[in-house]
Amino acid sequence: MMKETSVKYEKPRSKGKKAVEYEYTLIGGHNEGTLQIKTRRLPPKRINLSSDMLYTQKKDGRVSIEKWTGKKLPPNWLSSMLEIYEIDGKEPQGELNPVYRYIDHQMVDRCSAKTQKGKRCMKAALPGKNYCYVTHKSPK
Ligand SMILES: [Zn+2]
Repeated sequence: MMKETSVKYEKPRSKGKKAVEYEYTLIGGHNEGTLQIKTRRLPPKRINLSSDMLYTQKKDGRVSIEKWTGKKLPPNWLSSMLEIYEIDGKEPQGELNPVYRYIDHQMVDRCSAKTQKGKRCMKAALPGKNYCYVTHKSPK
């Protein structure tokens, strides 16, 4: 006799609950493959991932395009390209592993502000803005 099995999914988790490990499947784009994500939140509708393209500025001022491994940004980065993925089909369901499809790409510029040490802020500027979400003191 076959034993009846059922997969039980818990209700969506909220803050304060223990983190769940998801496997995101990414279809299309440079990030195609799977991604292990440990999070307390539900998988979002949309995710932005780095592509393999990065603009950097050389010491002589020239701008060059480099292949980016997606790890740490180099101190001379100017802008990077993000790949936008949207969840496939329905809304995220509880703890099911989501599938994302590549829908678009977006350039992200570096924040123009200088830090107190006189170096350029390493963070990415907000969309359509010159500065990141940090409030910088203007260096006057
Ligand atoms: Zn900044």
